[in-house]
Amino acid sequence: MRMIVKTTGDRTLEEVEEEPPGRADDPARRLFADTPQADWDNWKWHFRNRITTVDELARYIPLSSRERTRLKLVTRKFPLSITPYYLSLICPHDPDDPIRRQAVPSILEVTMGSVGSEDPLEEKRDSVVPGLVHRYPDRVLMVLTDICPMLCRHCTRKREWHKGGWVRTPEEIDNMLVYIRRHETVRDVIISGGDPLTLSTSHLEYIISRLRVIEHVEIIRIGTRFPVVLPQRIDDELCAMLSRHGPIWLNTHFNHEREITPEAAAACDRLLRSGVPVNNQSVLLKGINDTVEAQLRLCHGLLRIKVRPYYLFQCDEVQGTEHLRTPVEVGVKIIEGMRGHTSGLAVPTFVIDLPEGGGKVPMQPDYVLAQTASELTVRNYKGRVIRFRNPGASTEQEHPESADSPVAVPVPAMTTETRRSARQGGARHEDRVSVRS
Ligand code: SF4
Repeated sequence: MRMIVKTTGDRTLEEVEEEPPGRADDPARRLFADTPQADWDNWKWHFRNRITTVDELARYIPLSSRERTRLKLVTRKFPLSITPYYLSLICPHDPDDPIRRQAVPSILEVTMGSVGSEDPLEEKRDSVVPGLVHRYPDRVLMVLTDICPMLCRHCTRKREWHKGGWVRTPEEIDNMLVYIRRHETVRDVIISGGDPLTLSTSHLEYIISRLRVIEHVEIIRIGTRFPVVLPQRIDDELCAMLSRHGPIWLNTHFNHEREITPEAAAACDRLLRSGVPVNNQSVLLKGINDTVEAQLRLCHGLLRIKVRPYYLFQCDEVQGTEHLRTPVEVGVKIIEGMRGHTSGLAVPTFVIDLPEGGGKVPMQPDYVLAQTASELTVRNYKGRVIRFRNPGASTEQEHPESADSPVAVPVPAMTTETRRSARQGGARHEDRVSVRS
């Protein structure tokens, strides 16, 4: 924030103005000051001029010779790629800058590299034809390329980075389409990568238009980080193409409020005006967004640009990411600090994606203190304990006086034993009782 002093006639007005996020007075941005605006606005210019070596990076961010040596060691295993746009958001003199930590390699990627696995979600196991993952009955994942404009240090698909960049061949695409056509349970196709928007708009249209004519495919979703790392890609040509083939949903990946720049906001606005709803899937990252305050600022910022905070992912157990992972309890505490304290629209669902292809499981604070067949004892976001009559388990005839709405009553403190027996009581009726927290 900065204070602006304006003079109007004989009055001086002091206004606090939100500084546009991501436009701090940083030397890195100034290094691109000579770039013509036409180039800066052109996503292909950014793509061609990605920073991919440590020596190039050192032109923008001060790195000691020791740091250079270490980073070169890391990039042999896990390469580096940062768009000029995303680099311009980094505060180069702050090694803990939350933008920098998502983009610039860390020696911890290799020194802690033995923890985790290459493919924790076992996507390879669920591949039905090359590039097509079919894990759930009604949806499939099309992995079209392994190329991304930026290589995020916490990426789940880090294992693909050293392969040097591939795009599915027309024959592979056709095989995926044949499979989808033959499986009528598939109503939802997720187009992913790498980042699928690295493909040209015409190539994407070739694929999307063929999906669109498959009758049982109801919706198409695109997973992309372009609105965050290179928002210039969301141009009029792309938006016009997407609007021709809707319904198309777009899931993107903002992790920090400083990524919500005027450029990113304009990109999301173009998508929304083209009839493409935008949801956000962030990843919980140590030292980057692992506090209630950071998540509130991120999610409030997203709502201001009409992007829905959808998922907050526990960072997957991928080799080279351990230094960015938090205990699961951190995520649960964050949700607890948000739920009730702000609009439910601003609270994402915190999930872990289970190893061995187990799928996503929501992790929530435990609000149910005790449960019997006829009643739940629940705490609210302020810690107030309230009893809630369970209407599915008691009848008006049995308890005519309890037909009113649930009433808050003081309850005595419960012992561990009482809780256990209450829970067991609930479990006996599990076919009739469904509890949602
Ligand atoms: S954009 Fe997604 S797939 Fe690409 S490097 Fe970042 S996290 Fe990985």
